[in-house]
Amino acid sequence: MRFHAGWRLKAVLPVALILLAGLAIFEFVTLEVEAPQRVQLLALAAGGALAICAVLLVALAVLIQRPLVELSRRMEEVRTGDLYAHVSFSQRDDDIGSLGRDFNDMVRQLRESRDELQRIHQTQMSRAEHLATLGELAAGLAHEVRNPLAGIAGAVDILARELPASSPSRAIVGDVQQEVRRIQGTLNELLEYARPKPFDIRPADLNATVEQTVNLARQQITTRPIQLRFHPGSLPPVSHDRLQMQRLILNLLLNAFQAIDGKGEVLVETNADGQSARVRVRDTGRGIAPEALANIFRPFFTTKRQGTGLGLSLSRRIAEQHGGAIEVRSKPGEGSEFVVRLPLAAPELQMAGVNRNGQDESSHRR
Ligand code: ADP
Repeated sequence: MRFHAGWRLKAVLPVALILLAGLAIFEFVTLEVEAPQRVQLLALAAGGALAICAVLLVALAVLIQRPLVELSRRMEEVRTGDLYAHVSFSQRDDDIGSLGRDFNDMVRQLRESRDELQRIHQTQMSRAEHLATLGELAAGLAHEVRNPLAGIAGAVDILARELPASSPSRAIVGDVQQEVRRIQGTLNELLEYARPKPFDIRPADLNATVEQTVNLARQQITTRPIQLRFHPGSLPPVSHDRLQMQRLILNLLLNAFQAIDGKGEVLVETNADGQSARVRVRDTGRGIAPEALANIFRPFFTTKRQGTGLGLSLSRRIAEQHGGAIEVRSKPGEGSEFVVRLPLAAPELQMAGVNRNGQDESSHRR
């Protein structure tokens, strides 16, 4: 048991001083009394003072020190994870009792929060397992469907070539080709999501990567009144996988085009501070409703009739594989802004195991 002399001394010292002062006064008042009688009276008074101090010490030990020692033990138990610890003096009807009640309440709240967290964690774990199984199934199915679909696409292409130019079936075959391509795109995306390829992250010119992507995306809007502009900022070499980064930016650009009805603008900018490089894609499209904003990075969340809902979750994963992140800001009716942040220091963890050159066989999403 620890001995806390400090507070006991502080509590008893004033009392002892008052008693000593009393003794001194007593001595002064009894100056007239005969010596033997005076000594007796003095001894009696000193004995009384000592007894009062002793009773005070015992009372302090029982009323204050004991609960404090118990409190300190229970805190130690809480620190080691026992959230069922509680103090026994919480029934007392004084300040110490109120301290005990507060402590017991605090530990109970901690226990309830921990139980709630454990419950949420368990639900999420079983959901994650469930999703992983579903993902495996979906990926397996996509893989099975992909090869026969490639056969169908080839056959339809031959049919299209062999049909006479005047044939009314040409339009139908064209529709079939377009739909087959769309399904191929979705399957590729699903497979890429379920079984991502290793990244080849190395220092390179991020402006060149973004510019190539912007030029590629420009082909999609040749017939639309959308202004696509690129403002490159000054950047040091940025560690990135060029194909994956192109894919990420292309996802953002295609989403931006699709968010614009009629006329609009899409601005792509790059810049860097001491720690990270940024690619900003801003559009003047219809924006994102606040209730959708919380979900847009979730796999399969889409508000489009023909969307897969995988573009942004893939994009976020690509940014995270680079040790970076994607942030979004949007105002319905005014437009959206996506910012991709990449660290300027090479993300060593990712670099370690992924230096194999991943051939990107992906088709564009739409
Ligand atoms: P998809 O494009 O297949 O729907 P994404 O994951 O790329 O899947 O996007 C998810 C959703 O986020 C979209 O359906 C859309 O509602 C919203 N979204 C993404 N980018 C934008 C944007 N620039 N403007 C408005 N909404 C957007």
